[in-house]
Amino acid sequence: MIYKPVSIPKEKRKDFYQSKYDHFKYLLLWVIIISCLIEMTFFVSDCSVVMGFSENTLLSRFLIIVPLGLYLFAFKHVSSYKIMVPFSYVMIHACMLSVIWTSYYISNVQNLRESFLVIQIMFLIVGIASPKKLHCIFHALMIAEIVLACMFNSFTGIDTLISLDGACLIAICAFEFIFESAFGEMYNAQMKLEDVALHDQLTGAFNRSKLKMLCMEDTSELVFRNAGFILLDIDEFKKINESFGHDTGDQIIKELYNIIKICTRGDDVCIRLGGEQFLIIVPNQGLARTKEIGERIRHHVENKKDLACTFRISVGATVYKGGDYHVSINFADKALKFAKENEVNLVVAYEDM
Ligand code: GH3
Ligand code: MG
Repeated sequence: MIYKPVSIPKEKRKDFYQSKYDHFKYLLLWVIIISCLIEMTFFVSDCSVVMGFSENTLLSRFLIIVPLGLYLFAFKHVSSYKIMVPFSYVMIHACMLSVIWTSYYISNVQNLRESFLVIQIMFLIVGIASPKKLHCIFHALMIAEIVLACMFNSFTGIDTLISLDGACLIAICAFEFIFESAFGEMYNAQMKLEDVALHDQLTGAFNRSKLKMLCMEDTSELVFRNAGFILLDIDEFKKINESFGHDTGDQIIKELYNIIKICTRGDDVCIRLGGEQFLIIVPNQGLARTKEIGERIRHHVENKKDLACTFRISVGATVYKGGDYHVSINFADKALKFAKENEVNLVVAYEDM
């Protein structure tokens, strides 16, 4: 097979298209600004065609400034590709309609050809930031617009115009399919790398890098706000290693992570801080719920059967206090130490100490 398209899993597609848009959005912005400017400067050529000031085409050429202003405003305030990509196509069609409107006054197919070439380049560039199927639909509308223009304007040589632009349409759509596949390959490789970099190889839980990343992201306030922090650690784990060997120790760590997964929800973040210690961030939970989750995990561990050896855990819990997240982890750690020093196999909240 000459060309094998790369497939992106369905659940990742939204993220993929968003990253495609994010990657090329400034290119898109500039191509739209430049195309609108070109559209307006074509007014000079209108004047040379009519050999004087072309007042008829003044509005049709310069009205493009209105959608351009709206686009610039949206670009600043909207980040979703679902809005910005269709809006970018609307901008190309606005240029297209501006050309068709102008051609009503200057019925010269030669001029149209040049303008449509600029528009084809716009489609090509917007297409690289857009989902390929969406591109085909929005681009194909161009031919419908040419036919529509033909109905209102009495062009000569319209068949050449359609066949030229039709061929460009097919070539550009084929290019967008191949480009999306190439970008998909890069995206998949990046996802795999990110996966390895952010996950602990023994258990598959997140590692410390994930915690650092969470703190750097713009959304970190959202993740941590009202979040509960649960720090848990296996009691006397060294003895398990010594008595049963390291392989059993590893098995126990994996078993603990499985229990954590059972007792937590999809949006909770579980991080293996190192050794037999895990941090769980439970978003939007008060202290009572955080302690409850800690207790649920402790109880599950205590009552788990069919293990290579039994084990117990101690748990420190707290709720995020705002500011540096290290401070909250420190509080959870103090609670954990308190549990170990007093009784082990216990859940202690920093706020209750
Ligand atoms: P405490 O009850 O106070 O928590 O004591 P502990 O023995 O559980 O903790 P300690 O920190 O004294 O020992 C932890 C041991 O865990 C030491 C280290 O060799 C072992 N360890 C760290 N990482 C791994 C791992 O990935 N696999 C295994 N099997 N052991 C590990
Ligand atoms: Mg321990």
